[in-house]
Amino acid sequence: MILEERARRERALQVAAARASACRACSIGAQRRNNVYGEGDPLADLMLIGEGPGETEDRLGRPFVGRAGELLEKMLGAIGLAREDVYIANTVKCRPTLQGERGLKNRAPVPAEMANCRPFLDEQIEIIRPRVLLALGAPAAKSFLGANYAITKQRGRWERGPLDIPLLVTFHPAYVLRQTGGELTAVKRLVWDDLKAVRARIDELAAQSGATAPRQVGLFEARPVVE
Ligand code: SF4
Repeated sequence: MILEERARRERALQVAAARASACRACSIGAQRRNNVYGEGDPLADLMLIGEGPGETEDRLGRPFVGRAGELLEKMLGAIGLAREDVYIANTVKCRPTLQGERGLKNRAPVPAEMANCRPFLDEQIEIIRPRVLLALGAPAAKSFLGANYAITKQRGRWERGPLDIPLLVTFHPAYVLRQTGGELTAVKRLVWDDLKAVRARIDELAAQSGATAPRQVGLFEARPVVE
């Protein structure tokens, strides 16, 4: 039964990814090298949503690769999850860029791009139906919670995401990587708090649904690995 459901979701995601690949609703759709639809376990308990592909993601056609991706994998490992256990997507599937002196540079997606791409994201969430959504960074948070969402003041609270799925917001790994000194220590502590909350919520919901023992590897005794 699980195998059948996995196959059904994989097929649905492939069909949706092909539609996203053909999409040119935004100008960035014509500029990008690869459409970065998303990847991961179609039966995932946890779905992560970042803002949009960067240069490396655009080149490889995969979300969260490079240094931010490495940190994300460490963050997931801290709560007993491998990258393959979760589903990773972005608010936009094409790389938002602006012209710099030495070629195209990354930029955050604008609201119109996120609105254009939202049906693809909603469809992914509908297909995967994770127990928990984790928005990474302010643009992703704003796409769910409105333009006035203030990540520094409001992160760490459980919100209602699409389909009433519990949604938590934490800092984007790329933001964490840009911090230094005391700021870095403070941000890592907040991210760690958020990750622990995600793990606990997944376990709680799994227990309520009668699912088999959740994947847990002694998180609370573990040292934060966001370093
Ligand atoms: S960002 Fe999304 S909506 Fe815009 S062109 Fe790319 S796939 Fe289409």
